[in-house]
Amino acid sequence: MSSYQKTAPVPSQEFLDRNAKYAEGHKPELGNDHWGHVRPLAVITCMDSRIYPHEQLGLGVNDTAIIRNAGGSVAEVLTTILACQKFGVRHFMVLKHTDCGGFRLQGREIIEHYKAHAKSNPTLSAKTVEEVTSEIREFGYGNTPIEEVVLNDVEFFEEESVDL
Ligand SMILES: [Zn+2]
Repeated sequence: MSSYQKTAPVPSQEFLDRNAKYAEGHKPELGNDHWGHVRPLAVITCMDSRIYPHEQLGLGVNDTAIIRNAGGSVAEVLTTILACQKFGVRHFMVLKHTDCGGFRLQGREIIEHYKAHAKSNPTLSAKTVEEVTSEIREFGYGNTPIEEVVLNDVEFFEEESVDL
């Protein structure tokens, strides 16, 4: 039995209503021509809601792509990085932050959590759980200094991204 709260903090219909209201008055600054708006910069950062990349870096909302995930891990977003490069992004910035959950959580804890709470359904066999957990990348920075974590991600980026 899951311990997750079953009721969303905001009902889905309210989100749909909010989005519809937003869409009524929305006039895209950059038009709707697909991909003509791609900027040459992307910021890879944490999903932490305390991080405001545009404000922190003095960027306009259309100046950059923001790629977010747990801990701002470059390895976790390689597909997105490659897609960005394909669409014209040429500069990537890694933005980490202090008090990040990435320094408090380890991959083995994520795997244990998944195994304990994997949804039970007929298609999710024990083997599938093992397959899923084998795909969970090494996660967590432990006591590594934040500067070293950034350098490790930059090194990963330089090794794994394409040469343009
Ligand atoms: Zn974080």
